[in-house]
Amino acid sequence: MNQPMPRNDTRRRISIFGATGSIGCNTVDLVERQGGAETYEVVALTGGRNVALLAEQARRLRAGIAVTAHEECLPELQARLAGSGIETAAGAGAIAEAAARPVDWTMSAIVGAAGIVPGFLSLAHGGVLALANKETLVAAGDLVREKAARHGATLLPVDSEHSAIFQALVGEDRRALERIVLTASGGPFRDWPLARMAAVTPEEAVRHPNWSMGVRISIDSASMFNKALEMIEAHVLFDMPPAAIEVVIHPQSVVHSLVGFTDGAMLAHLGPPDMRGAIGYALNWPERRPLPLERLDLAALGRLDFAAPDDVRFPALRLAREVMEIGRGAGAAFNAAKEVALDGFITRRIGFLDMARLVEQVIGQMERAGEFATAPASLDDVLALDAAARARASACIEEMAA
Ligand code: NDP
Repeated sequence: MNQPMPRNDTRRRISIFGATGSIGCNTVDLVERQGGAETYEVVALTGGRNVALLAEQARRLRAGIAVTAHEECLPELQARLAGSGIETAAGAGAIAEAAARPVDWTMSAIVGAAGIVPGFLSLAHGGVLALANKETLVAAGDLVREKAARHGATLLPVDSEHSAIFQALVGEDRRALERIVLTASGGPFRDWPLARMAAVTPEEAVRHPNWSMGVRISIDSASMFNKALEMIEAHVLFDMPPAAIEVVIHPQSVVHSLVGFTDGAMLAHLGPPDMRGAIGYALNWPERRPLPLERLDLAALGRLDFAAPDDVRFPALRLAREVMEIGRGAGAAFNAAKEVALDGFITRRIGFLDMARLVEQVIGQMERAGEFATAPASLDDVLALDAAARARASACIEEMAA
């Protein structure tokens, strides 16, 4: 019988999906600060259109393979990596193939539904999956949990809120967990009246008051669709009923989230609004290592504010509760319809408030058509629901834009 060759290399094997994005660059930064290729064997790096950055990262980290999502970007990637000995490839299939290469630690930081397949595949290695791509849990939560359990993989959340909750629960008796309180900055339109919100432009929506993030998640934060996805993510990740998941507006983004126990005690996680905190925690888990984060000065901060969210101006929160109650495939449809709505807003085909209207219409249509009657049994079922929701959402956009 063939025995696998023992690895004569003690470096931790890692892959970073979405390396050229906001989360990806922060991950590369931390990996380099911790010794780069001396400490880590970088198996795969993937990106999209930013081929120059991908090639530069791949050279610096001496990656095994660099993959761009787009076939037309491959010649440039090949040219930039010529003579480096680094493999190159392109397309969603090549990203999936890269995800099948065994590693100990994976960062899933592709934006949107394109991140679902690589994250799901990498669970088969049984190592750590650091999940920034919340869409994976929203769309395929039960399947992800089941696959992680089957392969002994550890899911570590990279969303700052979920990392905060994860950290607050270390050493706690999970049976005593009563509630999860997700904090939300409220975004740039926190105090805007509804009439003014109707006329918001993509340029205004992208300006997040506290966090520096990719374009799509910044707009999702302004509409609170990001918080809606996070509610569903928390529901899946921490196995808590919808009613136990609360949202509180906290404009300073210093308290990253809280947990409440059956004895009435609450534990909060505080830190500066810097994603390297959550990424570094996931990278070094179960250890804590020094991170280059600004230290909080509570006296200088002076105060921390909290307020109830407004479901009328931010209907995404109400929709998230409905989607959690429906369960089964509704999360996949919710995420897909939201992505199409976001595209419609970015391209100015629909208004800011139309995004929630559109998502509500799609979920309603699919529920009435019985499309959520059975839970998705495979990733293909999830992707089919995703496609069905996109088709309905595109049709809604045509109607709204007409
Ligand atoms: P960015 O838009 O900054 O980066 C996205 C990454 O995905 C880039 O590497 C991009 O490549 C790549 N990419 C884009 N489209 C595709 C595609 N179709 N197929 C494969 N790769 C693609 O996103 P963020 O880093 O902001 O977010 C990444 C994920 O992390 C999202 O799911 C987001 O919700 C989540 N997250 C982000 C946070 C943040 O602070 N930014 C906080 C918490 C969660 P390229 O740029 O080269 O085109």
